[in-house]
Amino acid sequence: MWTPVLLEVGEHPLGVLPHQIRGSLSQFSQMTLVGHSSNSCTACCHTVVSEYRNRGMEFILQAINHPTYLEDLTGLTELMKSATLFTLDWDNEIGDDDDDCVEI
Ligand SMILES: [Zn+2]
Repeated sequence: MWTPVLLEVGEHPLGVLPHQIRGSLSQFSQMTLVGHSSNSCTACCHTVVSEYRNRGMEFILQAINHPTYLEDLTGLTELMKSATLFTLDWDNEIGDDDDDCVEI
């Protein structure tokens, strides 16, 4: 039976397991990155993992049967509501005095 175990970076039998590998051709460099979960991630945030561990299949069935359950649980619903209320004062006029931009 498979048991989930949290491994620290470097403890994996195959070495470092990065979440992302990014490279730069101009500098001939490569970066291995490890990301941390967002508090609002519907897949891996602490709230979702905790609910899954505590409720198991009941949690899975609730997430499947109620389309907004995970968004409500993680706070994404409130975040999206607050984002729609945000208004930006935007100036669409382009003047001749726009010398800050240079065409390449
Ligand atoms: Zn995530």
